[in-house]
Amino acid sequence: MTRGRIILLSGFAALIVSVFFTSGITAQPNTVQQIVPGVWFREGDIKKEGHCNNIIIEMKDYLIIVDANFPSGARLAAADAKKVSSKPIKYVFDTHHHGDHAYGNAVWTEMGATTLAYIGVAQEMKRYEPKRWMETNRADVKELKRTTAEPPKQTFDTTPFVLDDGTRRVEFHYFGWAHTRGDGFVYLPKEQVLATGDAIANGPFNYMADADIANWPKVADAAGKRKIKHVLPGHGRPGGTEVITGQGKFMKEIYAGVQGLIQSGKGVDDIQKMGMAKTLEAALKFSPQSKTWIGDGLAGQAVLVHEEISQKKPHGEISGGK
Ligand SMILES: [Zn+2]
Repeated sequence: MTRGRIILLSGFAALIVSVFFTSGITAQPNTVQQIVPGVWFREGDIKKEGHCNNIIIEMKDYLIIVDANFPSGARLAAADAKKVSSKPIKYVFDTHHHGDHAYGNAVWTEMGATTLAYIGVAQEMKRYEPKRWMETNRADVKELKRTTAEPPKQTFDTTPFVLDDGTRRVEFHYFGWAHTRGDGFVYLPKEQVLATGDAIANGPFNYMADADIANWPKVADAAGKRKIKHVLPGHGRPGGTEVITGQGKFMKEIYAGVQGLIQSGKGVDDIQKMGMAKTLEAALKFSPQSKTWIGDGLAGQAVLVHEEISQKKPHGEISGGK
């Protein structure tokens, strides 16, 4: 084969890869897509509205919604749920306590649904609220005229907590502290669907302030130990198990990368300077697979990793205490 032909072919292959890659990651905000019969994925508009994704799960007589979203996102998700099924929304599962996943709780309660969460979500709310609620500068939150976030109405402390009505089995899991101390997962064993909240994101959406960054890859590994065809993240597009392994790998690599910088005497100021100079990504020595998770927030994430390592405790304990 001539050199020219090799270049031409590899150019063509690169084109196919880039088209495939782009279609895989391009955001489709405010769209609803059926994942398997009776399970829909609603992509939230994170860019303009700060919304998370929602999952709609149809049971025999009712619907389960994954994540309460912000109040405006809650209303959009409720309207879309109505379009795909006439059944009432019985449960809304908060995957964790963050505003974009739980501040809509009161909206759902008012509609007659029961907000549901792993006990860690309610405990995290106690640590961080009402401070964050009061500091939120969003019209949809202020309009509720409440003094703090509404905690989930029903919690469970042993997992999996299971809802099974004979037509479908839905398992609610906790695999440990990753993104927050409350990270709940929703697993449908028959359909091999895993909804992950922000413990697994598909893209550069990892907010690490309340996290146990060192433990995060272990949670990803534990979550991945099931039969999974569809991974439905809290932010970013749906995917397969590559989203779980990629997220875990990114977390391992940013942690090891910052550890390396610390060993060579670099501090938080150095990390910020490297971020400004766009040399940080190379210095952290990421593998090509981590690309999906690297974005504008990289320096901020690396600073949090630096704090976690140098203060010898999970970053969430720096943010929220024990
Ligand atoms: Zn979050």
